[in-house]
Amino acid sequence: MSAFDVATVRPDFPILGRLVHGRPLTYLDNAATSQKPAVVIEALRRYYAEQNANVHRGVHLLSEEATAAYERAREVVARFLGLTSSRGCVFVRGATEGINLVAECWGRTHLRAGDEILLTQLEHHANIVPWQVIAERTGAKIVVAPVTPRGDIDLLAFRGLLSARTKLVAFTHVSNALGTVNPAAEMTRLAKAVGATVLIDGCQAAAHFRVDVPALGCDFYAFSGHKTFGPTGIGVLWGRPELLDTLPPYQFGGDMIRKVDFAGTTYREAPERFEAGTPDISGAIALGVALEYVMPIQAAAHAHEQALLAAATARLRAIPGLTIVGEAAEKVAVISFLIEGGHPHDIGTLLDADGIAIRTGHHCCMPLMKHLGLPGTARASFAFYNTMEEVERLGASLEKVRRMMA
Ligand code: PMP
Repeated sequence: MSAFDVATVRPDFPILGRLVHGRPLTYLDNAATSQKPAVVIEALRRYYAEQNANVHRGVHLLSEEATAAYERAREVVARFLGLTSSRGCVFVRGATEGINLVAECWGRTHLRAGDEILLTQLEHHANIVPWQVIAERTGAKIVVAPVTPRGDIDLLAFRGLLSARTKLVAFTHVSNALGTVNPAAEMTRLAKAVGATVLIDGCQAAAHFRVDVPALGCDFYAFSGHKTFGPTGIGVLWGRPELLDTLPPYQFGGDMIRKVDFAGTTYREAPERFEAGTPDISGAIALGVALEYVMPIQAAAHAHEQALLAAATARLRAIPGLTIVGEAAEKVAVISFLIEGGHPHDIGTLLDADGIAIRTGHHCCMPLMKHLGLPGTARASFAFYNTMEEVERLGASLEKVRRMMA
Protein backbone atom coordinates (compact mmCIF):
# COMPACT_ATOMS: atom_id res chain seq x y z
CA MET A 1 0.00 0.00 0.00
CA SER A 2 1.49 3.36 -0.99
CA ALA A 3 1.37 6.21 1.50
CA PHE A 4 -1.74 8.33 1.13
CA ASP A 5 -2.10 11.87 2.33
CA VAL A 6 -5.33 13.58 1.35
CA ALA A 7 -3.59 16.97 1.46
CA THR A 8 -1.31 15.87 -1.36
CA VAL A 9 -4.13 14.68 -3.67
CA ARG A 10 -6.53 17.60 -3.22
CA PRO A 11 -4.45 20.06 -5.26
CA ASP A 12 -4.69 17.54 -8.15
CA PHE A 13 -8.41 18.39 -8.41
CA PRO A 14 -8.75 22.03 -9.51
CA ILE A 15 -12.51 22.25 -8.81
CA LEU A 16 -11.98 21.54 -5.12
CA GLY A 17 -10.46 25.00 -4.76
CA ARG A 18 -13.60 26.86 -5.81
CA LEU A 19 -16.14 28.63 -3.65
CA VAL A 20 -19.86 27.88 -3.63
CA HIS A 21 -22.12 30.63 -2.24
CA GLY A 22 -18.97 32.17 -0.79
CA ARG A 23 -18.01 28.99 1.07
CA PRO A 24 -15.36 26.42 0.20
CA LEU A 25 -16.92 23.67 -1.91
CA THR A 26 -17.60 20.50 0.09
CA TYR A 27 -18.29 18.01 -2.66
CA LEU A 28 -20.20 15.03 -1.29
CA ASP A 29 -22.05 13.98 -4.44
CA ASN A 30 -19.41 11.59 -5.72
CA ALA A 31 -21.87 8.74 -6.28
CA ALA A 32 -23.53 10.92 -8.94
CA THR A 33 -20.25 11.90 -10.54
CA SER A 34 -16.66 12.28 -9.39
CA GLN A 35 -14.37 15.26 -9.87
CA LYS A 36 -11.47 15.11 -12.32
CA PRO A 37 -7.76 15.43 -11.61
CA ALA A 38 -5.78 17.97 -13.65
CA VAL A 39 -4.02 15.16 -15.55
CA VAL A 40 -7.39 14.07 -16.99
CA ILE A 41 -8.37 17.62 -17.98
CA GLU A 42 -4.92 18.06 -19.53
CA ALA A 43 -5.23 14.75 -21.43
CA LEU A 44 -8.40 16.04 -23.10
CA ARG A 45 -6.74 19.35 -24.00
CA ARG A 46 -3.61 17.67 -25.24
CA TYR A 47 -5.48 15.21 -27.41
CA TYR A 48 -7.31 18.00 -29.25
CA ALA A 49 -4.31 20.33 -29.31
CA GLU A 50 -1.72 17.80 -30.48
CA GLN A 51 -3.16 14.48 -31.61
CA ASN A 52 -6.68 14.86 -32.94
CA ALA A 53 -7.30 12.42 -35.79
CA ASN A 54 -9.70 9.59 -36.42
CA VAL A 55 -8.63 6.17 -35.20
CA HIS A 56 -8.13 2.85 -36.99
CA ARG A 57 -8.44 4.19 -40.53
CA GLY A 58 -5.53 6.50 -41.20
CA VAL A 59 -2.05 5.82 -42.45
CA HIS A 60 -0.81 9.26 -41.40
CA LEU A 61 1.09 9.95 -38.20
CA LEU A 62 -1.66 11.68 -36.25
CA SER A 63 -4.11 8.86 -36.90
CA GLU A 64 -1.49 6.32 -35.89
CA GLU A 65 -0.80 8.26 -32.68
CA ALA A 66 -4.51 8.61 -31.88
CA THR A 67 -5.07 4.90 -32.55
CA ALA A 68 -2.13 3.91 -30.36
CA ALA A 69 -3.35 6.14 -27.52
CA TYR A 70 -6.92 4.84 -27.83
CA GLU A 71 -5.79 1.20 -27.81
CA ARG A 72 -3.36 1.90 -24.98
CA ALA A 73 -6.31 3.19 -22.94
CA ARG A 74 -8.02 -0.15 -23.53
CA GLU A 75 -4.95 -1.89 -22.10
CA VAL A 76 -5.14 0.36 -19.03
CA VAL A 77 -8.82 -0.54 -18.58
CA ALA A 78 -7.90 -4.23 -18.72
CA ARG A 79 -5.24 -3.75 -16.03
CA PHE A 80 -7.72 -1.74 -13.94
CA LEU A 81 -10.14 -4.68 -14.05
CA GLY A 82 -7.44 -7.24 -13.25
CA LEU A 83 -7.50 -8.72 -16.75
CA THR A 84 -4.54 -9.96 -18.74
CA SER A 85 -6.21 -9.21 -22.09
CA SER A 86 -8.13 -6.14 -23.25
CA ARG A 87 -10.05 -8.10 -25.91
CA GLY A 88 -13.30 -8.09 -23.95
CA CYS A 89 -13.14 -4.38 -23.05
CA VAL A 90 -15.66 -2.50 -25.16
CA PHE A 91 -15.74 1.28 -24.97
CA VAL A 92 -19.32 2.47 -24.51
CA ARG A 93 -20.99 5.69 -23.36
CA GLY A 94 -21.26 4.52 -19.75
CA ALA A 95 -22.69 1.77 -17.56
CA THR A 96 -26.16 2.50 -18.90
CA GLU A 97 -25.11 1.80 -22.47
CA GLY A 98 -23.09 -1.24 -21.37
CA ILE A 99 -26.13 -2.83 -19.71
CA ASN A 100 -28.38 -1.91 -22.64
CA LEU A 101 -25.86 -3.55 -24.96
CA VAL A 102 -26.01 -6.81 -23.03
CA ALA A 103 -29.81 -6.68 -22.79
CA GLU A 104 -30.08 -6.07 -26.52
CA CYS A 105 -27.36 -8.38 -27.85
CA TRP A 106 -27.32 -11.18 -25.28
CA GLY A 107 -30.89 -10.89 -23.99
CA ARG A 108 -32.60 -10.83 -27.36
CA THR A 109 -30.74 -13.94 -28.52
CA HIS A 110 -30.64 -15.99 -25.30
CA LEU A 111 -33.95 -15.40 -23.53
CA ARG A 112 -37.16 -17.29 -24.21
CA ALA A 113 -40.64 -17.35 -22.72
CA GLY A 114 -40.50 -18.86 -19.25
CA ASP A 115 -36.85 -17.94 -18.64
CA GLU A 116 -36.08 -15.88 -15.56
CA ILE A 117 -33.92 -12.80 -15.09
CA LEU A 118 -32.89 -12.44 -11.45
CA LEU A 119 -32.27 -8.87 -10.25
CA THR A 120 -32.04 -7.47 -6.72
CA GLN A 121 -34.01 -4.80 -4.94
CA LEU A 122 -30.86 -2.67 -4.78
CA GLU A 123 -30.70 -2.04 -8.53
CA HIS A 124 -30.36 1.32 -10.23
CA HIS A 125 -32.97 1.94 -12.94
CA ALA A 126 -30.18 1.36 -15.50
CA ASN A 127 -30.09 -2.29 -14.38
CA ILE A 128 -33.86 -2.72 -14.26
CA VAL A 129 -35.50 -1.01 -17.22
CA PRO A 130 -33.41 -2.61 -20.03
CA TRP A 131 -34.34 -6.04 -18.59
CA GLN A 132 -38.01 -5.10 -18.35
CA VAL A 133 -38.02 -4.16 -22.02
CA ILE A 134 -36.23 -7.37 -23.05
CA ALA A 135 -38.50 -9.44 -20.80
CA GLU A 136 -41.52 -7.94 -22.52
CA ARG A 137 -40.09 -8.74 -25.93
CA THR A 138 -38.96 -12.30 -25.16
CA GLY A 139 -41.58 -13.44 -22.65
CA ALA A 140 -38.92 -13.87 -19.96
CA LYS A 141 -39.88 -13.06 -16.38
CA ILE A 142 -38.16 -10.74 -13.91
CA VAL A 143 -37.58 -12.10 -10.42
CA VAL A 144 -36.28 -9.85 -7.63
CA ALA A 145 -34.06 -10.85 -4.71
CA PRO A 146 -34.91 -8.93 -1.52
CA VAL A 147 -32.65 -6.91 0.76
CA THR A 148 -32.74 -6.97 4.55
CA PRO A 149 -33.88 -3.90 6.51
CA ARG A 150 -30.18 -3.03 7.03
CA GLY A 151 -29.62 -2.96 3.28
CA ASP A 152 -27.76 -6.25 2.83
CA ILE A 153 -28.74 -8.64 0.09
CA ASP A 154 -30.74 -11.50 1.58
CA LEU A 155 -28.39 -14.24 0.38
CA LEU A 156 -30.62 -17.06 1.54
CA ALA A 157 -33.55 -15.67 -0.44
CA PHE A 158 -31.24 -14.97 -3.40
CA ARG A 159 -30.09 -18.58 -3.36
CA GLY A 160 -33.70 -19.76 -3.08
CA LEU A 161 -34.72 -17.83 -6.17
CA LEU A 162 -32.05 -19.41 -8.36
CA SER A 163 -33.17 -22.37 -10.45
CA ALA A 164 -32.71 -24.00 -13.83
CA ARG A 165 -35.12 -21.32 -15.15
CA THR A 166 -32.66 -18.55 -14.17
CA LYS A 167 -30.90 -17.56 -17.37
CA LEU A 168 -29.44 -14.24 -16.26
CA VAL A 169 -28.47 -12.78 -12.91
CA ALA A 170 -27.79 -9.04 -13.02
CA PHE A 171 -26.86 -7.17 -9.88
CA THR A 172 -24.99 -4.15 -8.68
CA HIS A 173 -21.56 -4.63 -7.11
CA VAL A 174 -22.20 -1.63 -4.84
CA SER A 175 -25.51 0.14 -4.17
CA ASN A 176 -25.46 3.80 -5.17
CA ALA A 177 -28.35 4.53 -2.80
CA LEU A 178 -27.19 2.75 0.38
CA GLY A 179 -23.49 2.07 -0.16
CA THR A 180 -23.96 -1.71 0.35
CA VAL A 181 -21.11 -3.80 -1.06
CA ASN A 182 -22.63 -7.01 -2.36
CA PRO A 183 -20.80 -10.33 -1.95
CA ALA A 184 -20.39 -10.31 -5.72
CA ALA A 185 -18.06 -13.31 -6.05
CA GLU A 186 -20.34 -15.45 -3.89
CA MET A 187 -23.48 -14.32 -5.76
CA THR A 188 -21.76 -15.09 -9.06
CA ARG A 189 -20.70 -18.51 -7.84
CA LEU A 190 -24.28 -19.34 -6.80
CA ALA A 191 -25.65 -18.07 -10.13
CA LYS A 192 -23.09 -20.05 -12.09
CA ALA A 193 -24.04 -23.21 -10.17
CA VAL A 194 -27.47 -23.10 -11.89
CA GLY A 195 -25.89 -22.27 -15.26
CA ALA A 196 -26.92 -18.60 -15.36
CA THR A 197 -25.05 -15.83 -17.16
CA VAL A 198 -23.96 -13.05 -14.80
CA LEU A 199 -23.78 -9.31 -15.35
CA ILE A 200 -22.36 -7.06 -12.64
CA ASP A 201 -23.09 -3.34 -12.61
CA GLY A 202 -19.75 -2.00 -11.37
CA CYS A 203 -20.61 1.67 -11.61
CA GLN A 204 -20.16 2.41 -7.91
CA ALA A 205 -17.55 -0.22 -7.11
CA ALA A 206 -14.94 0.92 -9.64
CA ALA A 207 -14.69 4.31 -7.93
CA HIS A 208 -14.00 2.89 -4.48
CA PHE A 209 -11.87 -0.23 -4.56
CA ARG A 210 -9.86 -2.54 -6.78
CA VAL A 211 -12.07 -4.67 -8.97
CA ASP A 212 -10.75 -8.09 -9.98
CA VAL A 213 -13.04 -9.33 -12.75
CA PRO A 214 -11.46 -12.81 -13.12
CA ALA A 215 -11.81 -13.36 -9.36
CA LEU A 216 -15.49 -12.36 -9.54
CA GLY A 217 -16.08 -14.93 -12.28
CA CYS A 218 -18.84 -12.97 -14.01
CA ASP A 219 -19.61 -12.84 -17.75
CA PHE A 220 -20.15 -9.08 -18.06
CA TYR A 221 -18.96 -6.11 -15.99
CA ALA A 222 -19.92 -2.50 -16.70
CA PHE A 223 -18.74 0.84 -15.31
CA SER A 224 -18.81 4.55 -16.17
CA GLY A 225 -15.77 6.74 -16.70
CA HIS A 226 -17.25 9.83 -15.09
CA LYS A 227 -17.73 8.13 -11.70
CA THR A 228 -14.15 6.88 -11.87
CA PHE A 229 -12.41 10.27 -12.16
CA GLY A 230 -12.60 10.26 -15.98
CA PRO A 231 -14.76 12.25 -18.38
CA THR A 232 -18.47 11.93 -19.06
CA GLY A 233 -19.58 10.13 -22.23
CA ILE A 234 -17.21 7.19 -21.89
CA GLY A 235 -17.49 3.89 -20.04
CA VAL A 236 -16.62 0.26 -20.35
CA LEU A 237 -18.47 -2.96 -20.87
CA TRP A 238 -16.26 -5.96 -20.32
CA GLY A 239 -17.58 -9.26 -21.59
CA ARG A 240 -16.01 -12.68 -21.88
CA PRO A 241 -14.48 -12.40 -25.37
CA GLU A 242 -15.62 -15.84 -26.53
CA LEU A 243 -19.17 -14.92 -25.49
CA LEU A 244 -19.04 -11.44 -27.05
CA ASP A 245 -17.89 -12.95 -30.35
CA THR A 246 -21.07 -15.04 -30.55
CA LEU A 247 -23.43 -12.09 -30.02
CA PRO A 248 -25.00 -10.06 -32.79
CA PRO A 249 -23.59 -6.53 -32.97
CA TYR A 250 -25.32 -3.67 -31.17
CA GLN A 251 -24.97 -0.96 -33.78
CA PHE A 252 -23.86 -1.17 -37.37
CA GLY A 253 -21.52 0.94 -39.48
CA GLY A 254 -17.84 1.66 -39.91
CA ASP A 255 -15.05 -0.02 -37.92
CA MET A 256 -17.14 -2.98 -36.77
CA ILE A 257 -17.23 -4.78 -40.13
CA ARG A 258 -14.88 -7.29 -41.64
CA LYS A 259 -16.24 -7.09 -45.19
CA VAL A 260 -19.19 -5.20 -46.64
CA ASP A 261 -20.88 -6.27 -49.83
CA PHE A 262 -24.44 -5.54 -50.95
CA ALA A 263 -24.80 -9.29 -51.03
CA GLY A 264 -23.99 -9.47 -47.30
CA THR A 265 -21.73 -8.16 -44.55
CA THR A 266 -19.48 -9.92 -42.05
CA TYR A 267 -18.51 -8.50 -38.67
CA ARG A 268 -15.31 -8.26 -36.70
CA GLU A 269 -14.76 -9.88 -33.32
CA ALA A 270 -14.93 -8.08 -29.98
CA PRO A 271 -14.22 -5.38 -29.05
CA GLU A 272 -14.50 -3.68 -32.50
CA ARG A 273 -17.69 -5.65 -33.22
CA PHE A 274 -19.46 -3.39 -30.68
CA GLU A 275 -17.77 -0.08 -31.50
CA ALA A 276 -19.50 1.05 -34.69
CA GLY A 277 -18.56 4.50 -35.92
CA THR A 278 -16.07 7.02 -34.55
CA PRO A 279 -15.73 6.37 -30.82
CA ASP A 280 -15.18 8.88 -28.01
CA ILE A 281 -11.42 8.89 -28.65
CA SER A 282 -10.48 11.69 -26.27
CA GLY A 283 -12.80 10.28 -23.62
CA ALA A 284 -11.20 6.84 -23.78
CA ILE A 285 -7.68 8.28 -23.63
CA ALA A 286 -8.58 10.53 -20.69
CA LEU A 287 -10.30 7.61 -18.93
CA GLY A 288 -7.05 5.66 -19.27
CA VAL A 289 -5.23 8.58 -17.66
CA ALA A 290 -7.78 8.69 -14.83
CA LEU A 291 -7.40 4.97 -14.13
CA GLU A 292 -3.61 5.26 -14.19
CA TYR A 293 -3.94 8.09 -11.68
CA VAL A 294 -6.02 6.04 -9.23
CA MET A 295 -4.44 2.60 -9.55
CA PRO A 296 -1.28 3.33 -7.51
CA ILE A 297 -3.28 4.93 -4.67
CA GLN A 298 -6.35 2.67 -4.77
CA ALA A 299 -5.70 0.61 -1.64
CA ALA A 300 -4.66 3.56 0.50
CA ALA A 301 -7.49 5.71 -0.87
CA HIS A 302 -9.96 2.99 0.07
CA ALA A 303 -8.61 2.87 3.63
CA HIS A 304 -8.94 6.67 3.86
CA GLU A 305 -12.54 6.51 2.58
CA GLN A 306 -13.38 3.83 5.13
CA ALA A 307 -12.06 6.14 7.87
CA LEU A 308 -14.24 8.95 6.47
CA LEU A 309 -17.24 6.57 6.43
CA ALA A 310 -16.69 5.56 10.06
CA ALA A 311 -16.24 9.17 11.19
CA ALA A 312 -19.22 10.48 9.22
CA THR A 313 -21.46 7.62 10.39
CA ALA A 314 -20.59 8.36 14.02
CA ARG A 315 -20.98 12.14 13.52
CA LEU A 316 -24.41 11.78 11.87
CA ARG A 317 -25.64 9.18 14.37
CA ALA A 318 -25.02 11.69 17.14
CA ILE A 319 -27.48 14.19 15.61
CA PRO A 320 -30.91 13.79 17.23
CA GLY A 321 -33.71 13.07 14.77
CA LEU A 322 -31.31 11.93 12.07
CA THR A 323 -31.67 8.35 10.81
CA ILE A 324 -29.15 6.60 8.62
CA VAL A 325 -30.79 4.48 5.93
CA GLY A 326 -28.66 1.48 5.02
CA GLU A 327 -26.25 -0.02 7.50
CA ALA A 328 -25.01 -3.03 5.59
CA ALA A 329 -22.18 -5.11 6.98
CA GLU A 330 -19.87 -3.90 4.23
CA LYS A 331 -20.27 -0.44 2.76
CA VAL A 332 -18.43 2.10 0.66
CA ALA A 333 -18.43 5.71 1.84
CA VAL A 334 -22.04 6.48 0.93
CA ILE A 335 -24.48 7.57 3.63
CA SER A 336 -28.20 7.89 2.97
CA PHE A 337 -30.15 9.60 5.73
CA LEU A 338 -33.36 11.28 6.82
CA ILE A 339 -34.03 14.06 9.30
CA GLU A 340 -37.28 13.99 11.23
CA GLY A 341 -39.67 16.65 9.96
CA GLY A 342 -37.49 17.56 6.99
CA HIS A 343 -37.97 16.73 3.35
CA PRO A 344 -34.70 15.45 1.82
CA HIS A 345 -34.93 18.12 -0.88
CA ASP A 346 -35.00 20.88 1.75
CA ILE A 347 -32.00 19.32 3.52
CA GLY A 348 -30.09 19.40 0.21
CA THR A 349 -31.00 23.03 -0.44
CA LEU A 350 -29.99 24.13 3.06
CA LEU A 351 -26.64 22.30 2.82
CA ASP A 352 -26.02 23.90 -0.57
CA ALA A 353 -26.18 27.32 1.08
CA ASP A 354 -23.18 26.16 3.16
CA GLY A 355 -21.33 25.06 0.02
CA ILE A 356 -22.06 21.38 0.65
CA ALA A 357 -23.14 19.35 -2.38
CA ILE A 358 -25.20 16.24 -1.60
CA ARG A 359 -27.92 14.44 -3.57
CA THR A 360 -31.55 13.98 -2.58
CA GLY A 361 -34.41 11.91 -3.94
CA HIS A 362 -34.84 8.33 -5.08
CA HIS A 363 -31.30 8.05 -6.53
CA CYS A 364 -32.72 6.25 -9.60
CA CYS A 365 -33.73 3.40 -7.27
CA MET A 366 -37.50 3.83 -7.06
CA PRO A 367 -38.18 0.10 -6.39
CA LEU A 368 -35.68 0.16 -3.48
CA MET A 369 -37.28 3.30 -2.03
CA LYS A 370 -40.71 1.67 -2.34
CA HIS A 371 -39.39 -1.43 -0.57
CA LEU A 372 -38.01 0.74 2.25
CA GLY A 373 -41.27 2.71 2.40
CA LEU A 374 -39.50 6.00 1.68
CA PRO A 375 -40.09 8.63 -0.99
CA GLY A 376 -36.35 9.27 -1.03
CA THR A 377 -33.35 10.11 1.12
CA ALA A 378 -30.58 12.66 1.41
CA ARG A 379 -27.25 11.11 0.43
CA ALA A 380 -23.69 12.16 1.18
CA SER A 381 -21.17 10.23 -0.90
CA PHE A 382 -17.43 10.55 -0.41
CA ALA A 383 -14.32 10.15 -2.54
CA PHE A 384 -10.70 9.79 -1.49
CA TYR A 385 -10.14 13.56 -1.85
CA ASN A 386 -12.68 14.33 0.89
CA THR A 387 -11.37 15.22 4.33
CA MET A 388 -12.23 14.80 8.00
CA GLU A 389 -12.75 18.56 8.10
CA GLU A 390 -15.46 18.13 5.47
CA VAL A 391 -17.09 15.42 7.59
CA GLU A 392 -17.24 17.93 10.43
CA ARG A 393 -18.59 20.64 8.09
CA LEU A 394 -21.36 18.24 7.04
CA GLY A 395 -22.14 17.39 10.67
CA ALA A 396 -22.25 21.03 11.77
CA SER A 397 -24.43 22.04 8.83
CA LEU A 398 -26.84 19.15 9.47
CA GLU A 399 -27.12 20.18 13.11
CA LYS A 400 -28.16 23.63 11.91
CA VAL A 401 -30.69 22.07 9.53
CA ARG A 402 -32.02 19.91 12.35
CA ARG A 403 -32.54 22.96 14.61
CA MET A 404 -34.39 24.72 11.78
CA MET A 405 -36.65 21.73 11.27
CA ALA A 406 -37.33 20.91 14.91
N1 PMP B 1 -25.65 1.77 -11.94
C1 PMP B 1 -25.40 2.39 -10.79
C2 PMP B 1 -25.29 1.59 -9.53
C3 PMP B 1 -25.26 3.78 -10.78
O1 PMP B 1 -25.01 4.41 -9.63
C4 PMP B 1 -25.39 4.51 -11.98
C5 PMP B 1 -25.26 6.01 -12.02
N2 PMP B 1 -25.91 6.67 -10.97
C6 PMP B 1 -25.63 3.79 -13.16
C7 PMP B 1 -25.75 2.43 -13.10
C8 PMP B 1 -25.74 4.47 -14.47
O2 PMP B 1 -24.53 5.07 -14.81
P1 PMP B 1 -24.42 6.11 -15.99
O3 PMP B 1 -25.50 7.14 -15.75
O4 PMP B 1 -23.07 6.69 -15.85
O5 PMP B 1 -24.61 5.36 -17.26
